Amino acid sequence: MWKKSHPGAMFARCSQPAPKMITTIDNYDLSARNTFAMNVKCGIFMEYTKADDIPFLLSSIRKDIGKMHIGAGSNILFTDDYPGVVLHSAIKGIQILGENMGNVIVRAGAGEIMEDLVKWACDRELWGIENLSGIPGEVGASAVQNVGAYGTEACDAIVAVHAYDEVEQEFVTFTKEECRYAYRDSIFKKPDARKRYIIHAVDYELSPDAGPNLSYPALQKKFEGCELSSLSPNDVRHAVIATRSSKLPDPATVPSAGSFFKNPVVSEECFNAIVAGESGPDVPHFRVDSGYKIPAAWLIDQCGWKGYSEGNVAVWHLQPLVIVNPERKASPCEVIALEKKIIDSVRDKFGIKLSPEVEHI
Ligand SMILES: Cc1cc2nc3c(=O)[nH]c(=O)nc-3n(C[C@H](O)[C@H](O)[C@H](O)COP(=O)(O)OP(=O)(O)OC[C@H]3O[C@@H](n4cnc5c(N)ncnc54)[C@H](O)[C@@H]3O)c2cc1C
Repeated sequence: MWKKSHPGAMFARCSQPAPKMITTIDNYDLSARNTFAMNVKCGIFMEYTKADDIPFLLSSIRKDIGKMHIGAGSNILFTDDYPGVVLHSAIKGIQILGENMGNVIVRAGAGEIMEDLVKWACDRELWGIENLSGIPGEVGASAVQNVGAYGTEACDAIVAVHAYDEVEQEFVTFTKEECRYAYRDSIFKKPDARKRYIIHAVDYELSPDAGPNLSYPALQKKFEGCELSSLSPNDVRHAVIATRSSKLPDPATVPSAGSFFKNPVVSEECFNAIVAGESGPDVPHFRVDSGYKIPAAWLIDQCGWKGYSEGNVAVWHLQPLVIVNPERKASPCEVIALEKKIIDSVRDKFGIKLSPEVEHI
């Protein structure tokens, strides 16, 4: 099914027959393709359903035209219209590939909704990704971002990532080690790899008998007094979803891009100065190799931003790390102006420069 409006001048070889199952739309409205609901457009939107379509798609785009790949657009702030080509994978499918020492190896297409994969695993009593319940986005991006929540990261279960390498023009498979996973980081976010690899499938190793990961205090509390061996992945999944929805806005009703800022890591000197200041010794922190990680939410809250609203943008009243677009009317400029004010206020009060977690396009 080749659905097309006009391939337009962005294509190098318009006459080449296009593979089936590719959708191409000119001057495409991206407002439903980013959870922040920014009302922006792209020059061309292309969606494909098979990995084999990727080489054709890439070869058909003129080299001087910008292009980017999106998932569900839940970690993206479009700062303006995007004049180039926006690619999106609609590669679906979840299949069991086999077993490894009693564990189950599962492959999911990059365009699967991560939440559907988590539900699929929990419904089959497979442990490993239940703590990732409720995280917006698609499977491909979750392997880029190494999404994480409640003491679990995607890389805990990922065993391989399958991608197309645009530079070498070949399909490649990365082992988990080759993905160089770290906190919300992977090889796919490094500058030389950012636009080089298009992920089309991800393999996970899930366990029928691992049991719950309740390392996160909020989950521990939920199951206090429970016989752990009686818990199912779905019990944990439902607890995670309930905990998340008590704090985070649902992007379907209140547009946002989730946590807007990264948690900063500061030097011992900076940390000691904050503790010696008016905040006192109760500054929340985690000791990490390079210093002290301080929750950005706490820093922002200390500056009085929780629940603040201005024009069409606001800071979520239950979680100050989240900037929201409640009426779907905010412009990118409004979001950026509020972002700047928050960064400036945290810098002025604590001497810490916050960096955005959300990718600005
Ligand atoms: C309300 C809310 C709550 C959130 N909570 C969490 C949380 O608890 N934990 C967490 O880790 N994150 C969280 N996020 C952030 C977000 O859900 C994740 O970063 C998610 O993985 C983004 O997925 P996406 O499909 O929306 O990707 P996008 O935002 O569309 O893209 C993210 C990046 O991946 C790249 N990309 C997308 N698809 C591909 C592909 N197939 N191949 C190569 N590159 C690709 C894009 O180019 C971009 O660089 C939250 C977001 C929201 C809105």
